[in-house]
Amino acid sequence: MSTTAPVSASPTSPHVMNCYGRLPIALTHGQGCRVWDTNGKRYLDGLGGIAVNTLGHGHPELVPALQAQLAKLIHSSNYYHVTGQEQLAAKLTALAGMTNAFFCSTGLEANEAILKLARKYGHHKGIARPEVVVYENAFHGRSIATLSATGNTKIQKGFEPLLEGFIRVPLNDIEAVKKATANNPNVVAVFLETIQGEGGIRPMRWDYLRQVRQLCDERGWLMMIDEVQCGMGRTGKWFAHQWAGIVPDVMSLAKGLGSGVPVGAMLAGPKTAQVFQPGDHGTTFGGNPLAMRAGVETIRIMEKDGLLKNAETVGAHLKNALQRELAGVDGVVEVRGQGLMLGIVLARPCGAILQRACDAGLLLSVTADCVVRLLPALILTQAEADELVSILVPIIKHFLAEPQP
Ligand SMILES: *Cc1c(COP(=O)(O)O)cnc(C)c1O
Repeated sequence: MSTTAPVSASPTSPHVMNCYGRLPIALTHGQGCRVWDTNGKRYLDGLGGIAVNTLGHGHPELVPALQAQLAKLIHSSNYYHVTGQEQLAAKLTALAGMTNAFFCSTGLEANEAILKLARKYGHHKGIARPEVVVYENAFHGRSIATLSATGNTKIQKGFEPLLEGFIRVPLNDIEAVKKATANNPNVVAVFLETIQGEGGIRPMRWDYLRQVRQLCDERGWLMMIDEVQCGMGRTGKWFAHQWAGIVPDVMSLAKGLGSGVPVGAMLAGPKTAQVFQPGDHGTTFGGNPLAMRAGVETIRIMEKDGLLKNAETVGAHLKNALQRELAGVDGVVEVRGQGLMLGIVLARPCGAILQRACDAGLLLSVTADCVVRLLPALILTQAEADELVSILVPIIKHFLAEPQP
């Protein structure tokens, strides 16, 4: 593969705003689950652009479809009907058992729409100051509303005053929800990630999801689910909450929906589909023809190539292999998650593993300080999963064997 001259990927680049801790590499191209940097070094991609590159890189059917769409129409406007929106909305709502979709470009926008919808729903019911139940360790985005819903003081610090109207509860404890909302007539909704991503791959139990569904039905609250990271087939179902056999009233999607093209969506069911009327909400880029084509083609290819099944089986293989290889290793707490959304929980902060894996030719992430997180493309093969394990396990063992700093 040809490469261009090395570029500076220094974190002190004078013109790019310094918002991220970046590894000192820059990627130029990819194929499947492989990517190359400006020095021609090859990596196994265990991150998938943070659960974005559903179909991997350079997919032979996605790329020509997007090229054709680029030549036809990139953007029109929501002043007009967009046929791609009609197609993608029909497909997503059928997969979700819901009725209507609103399109945007990112996860936080989808969640912002959800939070606005919850407030409007409350106002329709005569609740002037609607409140939403949210969770410890949650991550919903970095706008003022979504960072207020987020359960991480590091993300919130310096951006106060936060938005009011959130009630925070621990995961998987229905009594805690009842207690935190007791005699509060202002509650309108519960908002959760089926499997918390940034929070450290923390799953909600299926029976807990059913309990929340029941409580929401009893109290007239909306059950609102953030599937931005765990949705779009990652766990082996289209949406992770489907493992619990429930249907939410509102759901947000983004990340993997467009295989790398920015696409976000809020899906609504019968209780919520009519809450927004013309003039209530909107966005310039949302649902543009290129984005919609990316969503439609991603789903078409996922169905054709059986990628839900692949995520489930290769994910189970990967999880088993990690559990087997790391069994009894001092400092390994647990391997958790589902499908191709996995976290290896260590007993101490392990940010150093990021650079070491990168040096060894493996891309991944470390989240919630102590969790090595894997979110590869859903096309990952069993052989690639084995290769990932063979690179990662020695790095983790070596790291844990070192004296603590
Ligand atoms: C990434 C993420 C978001 C935010 O999405 P952006 O596209 O970065 O705005 C929201 N919720 C969850 C669960 C996420 O993983």
